[in-house]
Amino acid sequence: MRWQDGRESENVEDRRGAPGSGGFRTGGIGIPIGRGGIGIGGLAVIVVVSLLLGINPLDLLQGTAPQDQARYEQSDAPRGGGPDNRDDELKRFVSVVLADTEDTWAAQFQQLGRTYQDPALVLFSGTVDSGCGFAQAAMGPFYCPQDRKVYIDLSFYRDLRDRFRAPGDFAQAYVIAHEVGHHVQNLLGISDRVQQAQRQAGSQAEANGLSVRLELQADCFAGLWANHANRERQIIEPGDVEEALTAASAIGDDRLQRQSRGTVTPDSFTHGSSTQRVQWFRTGLERGELNACDTFRADRL
Ligand SMILES: [Zn+2]
Repeated sequence: MRWQDGRESENVEDRRGAPGSGGFRTGGIGIPIGRGGIGIGGLAVIVVVSLLLGINPLDLLQGTAPQDQARYEQSDAPRGGGPDNRDDELKRFVSVVLADTEDTWAAQFQQLGRTYQDPALVLFSGTVDSGCGFAQAAMGPFYCPQDRKVYIDLSFYRDLRDRFRAPGDFAQAYVIAHEVGHHVQNLLGISDRVQQAQRQAGSQAEANGLSVRLELQADCFAGLWANHANRERQIIEPGDVEEALTAASAIGDDRLQRQSRGTVTPDSFTHGSSTQRVQWFRTGLERGELNACDTFRADRL
């Protein structure tokens, strides 16, 4: 992927090396959590602090469900690891990709007669306090609609490469573009409507089906970003599209379920199968327009 000359976004918040920092109400208690993430001791600290503050630690995990959190729970993602040179390069990469999504979506929203509001992207290591509660690196990247921020522990990229066998920078960009896709859904009111429909759904399978459509749309939006970024800035190099498709395929529900349980239960899918994810990313990439991504209208996914 040709990204080196791209503009860097100003909306990246680097919270690495400061697990659970920021908004968490520890107000300068100065918990000695070292770099490299939180182990069992760290979790105990969270529980103790929660108890001290009279907060049920479980409450920290509840609230409005963030998109994609707990997605990769079964993963033994390598924890934290302080920022190093390689990670600084990654940070620059993430900033450029984020800036690119900003340009793409600003133009798309303008066509709709609306103004795009940039999301923030938070880099963390180990754990993080988000507007949607506490999150751990092992849960994978996610978008929190409450604070309109994308959260990512860069160790996920090692996971993507080694555990999911989806290496390459364009695969990494796809992950960001997918989460930004959830932000777009939030701004357009799609997420709200889906949540409402899920509350009224007659069965869990029906609610899951809506979740799949939401996820596939985020994949399509990621493809749409790739289309525009390439048209405007020629970022795609040979092999890039395959990288993204490999990533989309690697994190399909069927593949993940087979890996973790050995069997596949389509009704329990919340993100779509590998084939579906690939297909919708490709649709966005080839068509490059919003109304190509109406996964809610589509009879067949
Ligand atoms: Zn998602």
